[in-house]
Amino acid sequence: MIQTVLTQAVAASRPAAELGQTASYIPELSKVDKHHLGACVFTSDGGRYSAGDTKVRFSIQSISKVISLAVALELCGFETVFAQVGMEPSGDAFNAMGKLEAAGSSPSNPMINAGAIAVDSYLEPKISFDRMLAFTRKLCMDPEIGLDEKVYHSEMSNISRNRAIAYLLENKGVIRSDVERTLDFYVRMCSLSVTAESLAGLGLLLAGGGICPATGERLLSPDTVRVVKTIMLTCGMYDGSGTFAVQVGIPSKSGVGGGILSVVDRRMGIGIFGPALDGKGNSVAGERVLRHLSQQLHLHIFDAD
Ligand code: GLN
Repeated sequence: MIQTVLTQAVAASRPAAELGQTASYIPELSKVDKHHLGACVFTSDGGRYSAGDTKVRFSIQSISKVISLAVALELCGFETVFAQVGMEPSGDAFNAMGKLEAAGSSPSNPMINAGAIAVDSYLEPKISFDRMLAFTRKLCMDPEIGLDEKVYHSEMSNISRNRAIAYLLENKGVIRSDVERTLDFYVRMCSLSVTAESLAGLGLLLAGGGICPATGERLLSPDTVRVVKTIMLTCGMYDGSGTFAVQVGIPSKSGVGGGILSVVDRRMGIGIFGPALDGKGNSVAGERVLRHLSQQLHLHIFDAD
């Protein structure tokens, strides 16, 4: 049943790639074939379902914000993380900085660049990037996850906007550690390369409240996972989060590499790769796959059955 629906969802959504474009701010993302589409579902009873390009590696980009938030909650605590970063959808583009200028304002939430850079500034002094990478591999049950050096260097040479955001945050007292080290950590996390399968693995771990489905080891606390899933539901699809919540109703996080991480609580983790993006930076075909799955398998958070 799940395999049939998944195969249909991917086939039906493929043409939607024509409606979008790959991210264009660095060549490494713009030259990815926009017709890739893959979707993977891992279920809590051990099922593994795949359709399309689920083993192709791509750039995790903003989906790393979920991992950084989770680890920051574990290592720094809720009070520190949310002292100056909010929990509200911003309604603005992910890299917006206009509202930050206003006196007394702070980043709306940890899923946009400003919020994630602030969270990384609390996290970076506590954990090395190498340990983050090792932990990410465990969370995703994918030992092959690595840093894409080309993406990393390209991102670092196109960092002006994020650097402006970070120094504004330092000026406002939101960032109190080294700004350049924070930016380097943020960009490294964005430059990890994953597959749709890796994201399904992470989704299943979050669906199960933080316990690794493969080993039974607790990797994240229930409190951390509850916060992360709630923020994904309200803020995970940037300024498309509200519409997505109504139409799909599955806590998700997108990235401009074309990935979407989705969590059907207690039941499944879903990973998608479809690099053609809509105007908000979300995978066009990926969103369609999720809409299809949600409707056919009754996965909306408020579905009765
Ligand atoms: N590296 C990108 C940035 O910092 C990530 C953004 C995204 O995936 N939306 O702007």
